[in-house]
Amino acid sequence: MAWFRREKRPLQAAESSQIRTEGLWTKCEGCRQIIWKKDLEANWNMCPKCAHHFRLNARARLRLLLDEEQYTEHDAAVETADPLHFVDLKPYRDRLENAQRSSGLKDAVITAEGRMSGQPVMVCAMEYSFIGGSMGCAVGEKITRAIERSLAGNLPLVIVSASGGARMMEGTVSLMQMAKITAALARLDEARIPFLSVLTDPTTGGVTASFAMLGDLNIAEPGALIGFAGPRVIEQTIRQKLPAGFQRSEFLLEHGMLDAVVPRPELKGFLVRAIGLLLR
Ligand SMILES: [Zn+2]
Repeated sequence: MAWFRREKRPLQAAESSQIRTEGLWTKCEGCRQIIWKKDLEANWNMCPKCAHHFRLNARARLRLLLDEEQYTEHDAAVETADPLHFVDLKPYRDRLENAQRSSGLKDAVITAEGRMSGQPVMVCAMEYSFIGGSMGCAVGEKITRAIERSLAGNLPLVIVSASGGARMMEGTVSLMQMAKITAALARLDEARIPFLSVLTDPTTGGVTASFAMLGDLNIAEPGALIGFAGPRVIEQTIRQKLPAGFQRSEFLLEHGMLDAVVPRPELKGFLVRAIGLLLR
């Protein structure tokens, strides 16, 4: 009666029955659907289903805006000297080293020269993943030098902001960057060289309070959080409930704080047209 005897060895279970899925998918904050990260990246970090704009890192931003994804980077070696030898939960030095290792950047902005539809331009792209895109002396210095290069080369300037504001760990030194950059922008203005500010999610604090709002045109991406202080601080100060959508691009456009809200796929074309008009 061999037919019921189990003569072969039972099938072996696979080494691990778990399939790695973490990190491959993400949930869209706009439509709550699950999206494959590869699809998201292929679509310049916009949801393929509802066009919700996820954050875009500085390198991808430069590829998005500049012809043939080509650019010459300036001042890549500029880094902060930790002027206050600041320590909170851990030393600022350690935070910097971690951020530098994970981003491959020395600080929270890339300044680069390239072309937009043939027009030579200077572009500064801020990197939010680097300590919240905060502005310390390295970011201030790099942006100031980019403005000076714009002046020297008569190049229109585009600054793409993504920042929590001035960098707390550099105290007053980071606040001084606001004045330094603003003074350089004033010279650019006197020379009648266009400066377009692009505000992306999020642009807050000392960055909003200085160069991000000083563009000849201030342009935002859809749904971006833009403000100075956070809503909770404002509610406590004015003792009033804030309206829905407060501090989002569309609300700010409606209230005259912005000149345009431009979706990511149209951004380059919009900037090219605007620069063309301003150079006339
Ligand atoms: Zn979506």
